[in-house]
Amino acid sequence: MDKLERQKELIRILNYHRKKYYDEDDNVISDKEYDELYKELEELEKETGFVADNSPTRLVGGSVDKKFLPYKHKQRLYSLDKCQNFEEFLNWEKRTEKQIGSFDYTLEYKYDGLSVNVFYSGGNFVKASTRGDGITGEEITEQIKTVKELPLQIPYKGDIEIQGECIMRLSDFNEYNRTHDKTLKNPRNAAAGALRNLDINITRSRKLSLIFYNIGYSKDRSFSSQLQMYEFIKENGFPSGDFFKVIKDKNILNSELKNIEKERDGLDYLIDGAVIKVNDTALREELGFTDKFPKWAIAYKFEAEEESTVLKDVIWQVSRTGKINPLAILEPIELGGATIKRATLNNYADILKKDIKINSRVFVRRSNDVIPEVTSNAEHFANSVDIKPPDKCPVCKAAVIKKGAFYYCSNTENCAPRIISALAHFASKEAMDIEGLSEKTCELLYNELNVKNFTDIYKLKKEDLLELEGFKDKKAENLIASIKASKNVPLYRFITALGIPTIGKKNAKTLADKFKNLNRLINVKEEELKDLNDFGEIMAKSVAEYFADGKNLQLIKDLSQYLNFIEEESNQGIFSDITVLITGKLNGMSRDKAYEEIKRRGGQTSDTVSKKVNLLIVGEDAGSKLEKAKKLGIRIISQEEFFQMLNQ
Ligand code: AMP
Ligand code: ZN
Repeated sequence: MDKLERQKELIRILNYHRKKYYDEDDNVISDKEYDELYKELEELEKETGFVADNSPTRLVGGSVDKKFLPYKHKQRLYSLDKCQNFEEFLNWEKRTEKQIGSFDYTLEYKYDGLSVNVFYSGGNFVKASTRGDGITGEEITEQIKTVKELPLQIPYKGDIEIQGECIMRLSDFNEYNRTHDKTLKNPRNAAAGALRNLDINITRSRKLSLIFYNIGYSKDRSFSSQLQMYEFIKENGFPSGDFFKVIKDKNILNSELKNIEKERDGLDYLIDGAVIKVNDTALREELGFTDKFPKWAIAYKFEAEEESTVLKDVIWQVSRTGKINPLAILEPIELGGATIKRATLNNYADILKKDIKINSRVFVRRSNDVIPEVTSNAEHFANSVDIKPPDKCPVCKAAVIKKGAFYYCSNTENCAPRIISALAHFASKEAMDIEGLSEKTCELLYNELNVKNFTDIYKLKKEDLLELEGFKDKKAENLIASIKASKNVPLYRFITALGIPTIGKKNAKTLADKFKNLNRLINVKEEELKDLNDFGEIMAKSVAEYFADGKNLQLIKDLSQYLNFIEEESNQGIFSDITVLITGKLNGMSRDKAYEEIKRRGGQTSDTVSKKVNLLIVGEDAGSKLEKAKKLGIRIISQEEFFQMLNQ
């Protein structure tokens, strides 16, 4: 195809998606796919030297919907130049330095929402608008008033326009989707669709949030730097960004960027990158603007976490508890440096809520090392078909039982994947810790040697193992040795190993601490369990039911013959059973070293804030983890306290 023809085609495609994104608050392709098309167009325009009037490379944002009153910005709003990696950033920096010499930058998050412009006069909030085409926006004064964080009065009395981002926090987004039949696709669309809505009740129900980061028009006051703007924004009671730093050194900038990218999943909102700006406003004036963006700022885009692809099929997998889980088979895509072919779908009810169908295009999200998940529908096609719930167990063909949103295999005796994963769980590190008895080996044992229950493991002999493929002398000996070693076991590990539904290692420990011996435990009454630390009704019931089942009691009796219950391992330390996270720099100790010390004392570590974390250690220049940890009510200690704990 002729280059100009391709340009024309790209403009048509991009403008279609821009209309969807900016005007209809919807999207059918991911930001990454959009950015790739955009880049192709930009390059063609450079090559041919021709830029059409309607090219998105010269237009800001969307159009102005007639259903809103127009608002003429007192000062034009712009888009942002973009780079995808540090090398591209350095090119931008070189160009910029050529013009103004060396300079300090500021670093902020790039909030992934909808940009808004608010106007204040005489200390009162007057009007708010969307960015629109940058010159005129849509007035959304009443809509934005539903956001509790917006100050209606501010100390500053002059005429001033302040810009920020309207977002929906992930906690609010998830809560909304949990409590509504029709789910929202993603927080950005959800925020935009709610703010650009004439029904204020809808806007209010979405519980939107605001973050302000820039001052545009200001009649009587000038600002000498981004830092001054940031401080002004805070002092006047506006919600400001959680992250703001002035940086002089590009190596520090580089490591900060890496840190932000690593920690972004711990935030309660989406960011799609970071924004780097020239701090000094006098220097900014020298740099000026292009048609579309300021030359004094650039967005550093992170690796995409979301991508769209076609869902080819759904298969159902049986888990240890017999729960039958849906798994999406995808047209393979690259995401976060890996090829993704499969992704989880939570459960059947969720599939219906999200309107996900086979042969449709769906959005898939993968953050850090979490298992990829199908998050929403992108687009249905003529051949899209509904996903059917399992009508029988996909493996043993037994009938299914429906409990709430989930389906279970009714065959508790001999459904292969259930047995194999129960064996693997029994042998796992958390439980009996039988080295070399992986899920794969369990499968072999089940298929070839008819190992079906936990007791069968202890009946295995070296000769049996030698029959198995891949089992030579040494390997067989090792496995027999680790099976033998597992016989000396603390009670809590044994309880964990049983795989009582809803009971993990932590609860097993609570049970072991409380009842001390197996006999006491198996005679327990449901009432006694409810009073235990962290035990809800469901868990109490689950434990009571388990020990009321004669089959389980027989199994435990058989197993006990082989086992010798011991006191807990002695290398438990001050951090035993605590999951620890560090934020900020520690004096005189690297983070790696600190984590090593924690592990040596029985602790576990994490790199992101989540409910699993029990303790946050705060060093110097603590990041956003601190805020998040406070919100989650996680115990927080200083580095001094941490060092004291190490010395105990
Ligand atoms: P784009 O939407 O790709 O044109 O990117 C520019 C937009 O990024 C701006 O219009 C803002 O809405 C948004 N943005 C998010 N965070 C920031 C920030 N910290 N500083 C400036 N703009 C930001
Ligand atoms: Zn089954």
